[in-house]
Amino acid sequence: MPVYLDHNATTRVRPDVAALIAEIMTEEGNPSSVHSHGQAARKRVENARRQIGKALSARAEDVIFTGGGTEALNLALNSVITSGRAKRLLVSAVEHEAIAVTAEASGLPVETVPATEAGVADLAWLGERLQRWNDVDEGVPVLALMLANNEIGTIQPVAEAAGLVKARNGLLIVDAVQSAGKIPVDFAGLGADYMAISGHKFGGPQGVGALVAACDAPVSRHSHGGGQEKGRRSGTLNVAGIAGMGLALEQAVASLADFAALAALRDKAIDAIRSAHPGVVVLGETAPRLPNTIGLAVPGWRGETQVLAMDLAGVSISAGAACSSGKAKASKIGTALRLDETLSEGVIRISLGWPTTEDDVDAAISAWTGAWARIQPKIKETA
Ligand code: PLP
Repeated sequence: MPVYLDHNATTRVRPDVAALIAEIMTEEGNPSSVHSHGQAARKRVENARRQIGKALSARAEDVIFTGGGTEALNLALNSVITSGRAKRLLVSAVEHEAIAVTAEASGLPVETVPATEAGVADLAWLGERLQRWNDVDEGVPVLALMLANNEIGTIQPVAEAAGLVKARNGLLIVDAVQSAGKIPVDFAGLGADYMAISGHKFGGPQGVGALVAACDAPVSRHSHGGGQEKGRRSGTLNVAGIAGMGLALEQAVASLADFAALAALRDKAIDAIRSAHPGVVVLGETAPRLPNTIGLAVPGWRGETQVLAMDLAGVSISAGAACSSGKAKASKIGTALRLDETLSEGVIRISLGWPTTEDDVDAAISAWTGAWARIQPKIKETA
């Protein structure tokens, strides 16, 4: 059985969640219908809304269900833009394409908040930039800053950034897709105006997510139709997916200590790989990181080649983010961290998940070190 260590791309649906979804799939009922079947479905949805609000320290009524993390982030960004309050966007260098590409597509000028060498947003830069912010020409400052990075797991200084943005009456969009269910997430405490999550990153199904929007944050209609979700997102709700996501997040939050314990396995893998190849750079190593994410830059050995070698050895990992792997381009994080070309081309991500065992990690270690032992003489020859 191949070993799966690409949990940041998507993780396994939790057994109780799969059972709940299977049960709901046998039930009829549109949550917008007034009859008893409809109301039973509505109850499922509202229960999930409560579970998600509680798990994120947010008000249940501020949770808007979407078709995933990308849609939630699009809704946040497009709402800010439609409100007319933003004339320019600040986007951190480590953001996922779901934000970065959406911001570029908005037509507004986009300014990148650089990352420090440690792989976190540069708050000194942000503070200085906000001091020069001109509300008249630039509108309110809008910052998109994720809570934890998908490629290297660095936890971003969101609360501090919120303080800086709020001092200028700005708005903050937080991509918590990789943090919800992995580390404690406190929507209210962080000072976010918007926060996006995605079910399939914490043991729920794919294609369902949520946007939490603070009560005073603008949310505009981007999907028109039946007016579901108080008009904020039209379309019949995915009852099974939403209920599954609610239960998954509740269970993930209840077992955060187990997730934190993955740090020992993460460090075991890093130590073994580094002792086989001392030139390997552990990305974001000096910053607080997710316990499950290993971002490595291997000088001279292309990330895609490593992924293939690992796949042949029966271990699934990725070369950076899922949507950019497979493409022959430098990883986004490589650019953000200003890595030189040989390092940037050699970026891989090994991400552990709630089902990961020590045997899985041992298999990955022997797959990587075995492949490295075979490739190393060839790399030296061509260097
Ligand atoms: N944001 C981050 C940090 C992600 O890692 C991902 C998915 O990889 C997304 C957003 C997009 O979420 P979804 O796959 O639910 O559209």
